[in-house]
Parts: sequence; C-alpha cells; structure tokens
Amino acid sequence: MAALLCARKALVSWAQCGRRCLSQLAELPEMHQMLRQTCRDFAERELAPIAAQLDREHRFPAQQVRELGALGLLAVETPEALGGAGLDYLAYAIAVEEISRGCASTGVILSVNNSLYLGPILKFGSEEQKQQWVTPFTTGEQVGCFALSEPGNGSDAGAAATVARRDGEEWVLNGTKAWITNCWDASAAVVFATTDRSLRHKGISAFLVPMPHPGVSLGKKEDKLGIRASSTANLILEDVRLPPQSMLGQPGMGFKIAMQTLDSGRIGIAAQALGIGQAALDCAADYAQKRSAFGAPIAKLQAIQFKLADMSLALESARLLTWRAAMLRDSRKPYSKEAAMAKLAASEAATFISHQAIQVLGGMGYVTDMPAERHYRDARITEIYEGTSEIQRLVIANLLLKEYQG
Ligand SMILES: Cc1cc2nc3c(=O)[nH]c(=O)nc-3n(C[C@H](O)[C@H](O)[C@H](O)COP(=O)(O)OP(=O)(O)OC[C@H]3O[C@@H](n4cnc5c(N)ncnc54)[C@H](O)[C@@H]3O)c2cc1C
Repeated sequence: MAALLCARKALVSWAQCGRRCLSQLAELPEMHQMLRQTCRDFAERELAPIAAQLDREHRFPAQQVRELGALGLLAVETPEALGGAGLDYLAYAIAVEEISRGCASTGVILSVNNSLYLGPILKFGSEEQKQQWVTPFTTGEQVGCFALSEPGNGSDAGAAATVARRDGEEWVLNGTKAWITNCWDASAAVVFATTDRSLRHKGISAFLVPMPHPGVSLGKKEDKLGIRASSTANLILEDVRLPPQSMLGQPGMGFKIAMQTLDSGRIGIAAQALGIGQAALDCAADYAQKRSAFGAPIAKLQAIQFKLADMSLALESARLLTWRAAMLRDSRKPYSKEAAMAKLAASEAATFISHQAIQVLGGMGYVTDMPAERHYRDARITEIYEGTSEIQRLVIANLLLKEYQG
C-alpha cells in the first residue's frame, strides 16, 4: 500500500511539472513515459496473471480496482482538490491502454468510471454535486456507471423512452436502461431520461442516481462474449424519487451532456482497444519465435512476418490517432472527429490483430490455454459500445463535410 501511495504522489507531482505540448508524436513527455511504465508494471504483475480466471468466473476485480484507485487511476483527470490525480487526457489514454493490455475488463471498468461517470459531473456538475458525486468515486472503493442505452434504442439515443416527471419538488423516474457497464458493482449512475418525448433529444435531461435506491433494481448479469469480468445489466427504474438537486446541468441538456461525454469516452475505448491489440501482438510475436515448423521457428516464415508487420502497422497508426485526439482535447481544440477516427481505427485494429494472432498460434490460438482467444473475444465489443463503427463513420463524415462547406 505504501508503494502505491508513493506512486500516486509521483503521478501528482508529474502533473505539477506543467503540461508540455507534444510537438512530436514520436516521443511521449517524460511524465507520460513514467506513468506508462507504472501502469505497465501494475498490469503485468497484478492483472495479466489473473485475467483468464476473472474472465472465466465473470468476477469483478474489486481488490485490483481499489489498488488502481490508490494509484489515482480511477480519476486520472479529476482535480487533486476533488481527490483525483489531476493529470491530462493523454495520461488517461495511456493508463487505459496499459491496464487493458493486462486485462480488458479492468480497462473498461476504469474507462467507464473516469470518462462516462466522472467526466460529465466534472464538466456539468455544480460544486455541491462534485463534492457529493465525485470525491467518493476517486479511490476505487466505489465505481459509477452511465445509463444512456435502452432496450428499444442504442445508436438512436435521442429516442429515449425512460421518463422523468415532476411531482412537487421531486423528480420521478420510470423506465429501463440497457447494457449498463459496471451496473452490478456501481454505487451511482448518471441516468438519461426524457421530460417530453415529443421533443425527441431536446426533451432529455441527465440525473444523478444513488445505488442502491428505492425503486432501482438490476436485471440479470448479461452472459457476454468478452470483457466478462465487467458486469453488464439492465438498470430498471420504477417510481424512483429524486430531489431537485439530482439533475445534472439544465433541463433538456441531457442529450448534449451524453454526446459530449461520448466524444471523450471514445478516446478511452480507443485506448482499451490498443491495449487488447498490443496484448494480442505480444502473444503472437512471442509464440512465433518459440514454435518451430519444418525445422525452423515460424517467425522465419515470410507469411508469418507479413502478418506481424501488418498487425504492428495497424496498432501504431491507431495509437497515433488516439494520442492525437487526446492531445487535441488537452489543448481545448475541437476533437470530436479525431476521437471518432481514433475509436474506429483502434477498435478495427484490435479485431484484426486478435484475429491474426489466433492464425499465428494455429490450434493453440483456439483454446483457453493461451490468451489469444480471450483477446479475440474482448476486442469485438470495442466496435460496438460508445457508438458502433457505423456511427463513428457517420460522425466522421458529417464533421468532414462541414469542413468542406467552410
Ligand atoms: C457489453 C456492452 C456494454 C455496454 N455498456 C453501455 C453502458 O455502460 N452504457 C450505455 O448507455 N450503453 C452501453 N452499451 C450499449 C451500446 O452503446 C449499444 O449497444 C450501442 O450503442 C449500439 O446500440 P444497439 O445495441 O441498440 O444497436 P442498434 O442501434 O440497434 O444498431 C444495430 C445495427 O444497426 C446499425 N445502425 C444503427 N443506426 C445506424 C445508422 N444511423 N447508420 C448506420 N448504421 C446504423 C448499428 O451500427 C448496428 O450495426 C453497452 C453494450 C454492450 C454490448
């Protein structure tokens, strides 16, 4: 524990060194390199050895999440005054990649708490809301979740059917939110509900909901293809009564809050995909040097070398896009298009690389003795959540065409 606290202090002092603009993408600033090494060491020591077991048992890594909290990684961008590490978004992307390299489930638990739960409260919350809803979620003792999707709508989030109505001073919420990551383990949720469905997305507001809370219940844990150590379930709201100060932002601002949150969140999912892709490449490159066929290591075969080269190329290009999106956000420049590009490129790279890794391993790629099959299963979700690949292409094309219109 003392070592963790020391490492956390180091993270905070790096932030105090001042944020350096990255003029060359080729090299990370020193503080980011140190953070990367700290996260990599943690992932290799604490996560990679148990990732297969967590996956098999569908088990939330509570102890590891607390240790990551002690390192400041549950609240990377949250100011120190609120209990966070006070680092930038590039640091966050690096942390999520390295943690996901060890365990993709832990990567998404981290990503949801940082960007989907704390992110909108930091950006749109009042000072009182930040004290109540941010600080207790920085240590890893409690995690939050983000409830936008519903059984009837995912990509079309503006069609929200969960209703919020006024009853005197209070808000009363009814409806079902679907696919909510961290749901079973969460102590609070940012929930989106409509006050007037006829207004479509302009009728949606955001609410802070404690968990457990009267009227809030959970659906069954979804039995997923991958990221099985993170919980996913329906969040069911039946006459959930909330005080007026539970609303995040102004009435009708919910859709804007959700979209801006997802812009940032996509950088986290891109980073998660990079971690999965890197782990799959590591596994394939290592195996190719150890496995012999026709009297020599398969790494000597050009067919295998070309696969490794293409895997590495896809990974490095997606990493550059991800870092660029994070740096644009850090320098307060528009980054929606770049975040969508990063998420699209990194998620498709992770799917491609993990597919190729199984090919390099042959039969050993297909069984659970090796991690390649888990990387393949984990990679797939990155093309779906926080906006499918089709939605990323729509976002990119819309923003691109606006640039051409001047
Ligand atoms: C494991 C997991 C965890 C999740 N975690 C969360 C969470 O924490 N919080 C949360 O709110 N949600 C979460 N989600 C939901 C996720 O964001 C949605 O599944 C996703 O946005 C897609 O929505 P959908 O499943 O309803 O698919 P649909 O929207 O029904 O789409 C089905 C298909 O149609 C395509 N499509 C839809 N509209 C268009 C269009 N306009 N143009 C082109 N193609 C289109 C899609 O790309 C997709 O291929 C999670 C989902 C999963 C599986």
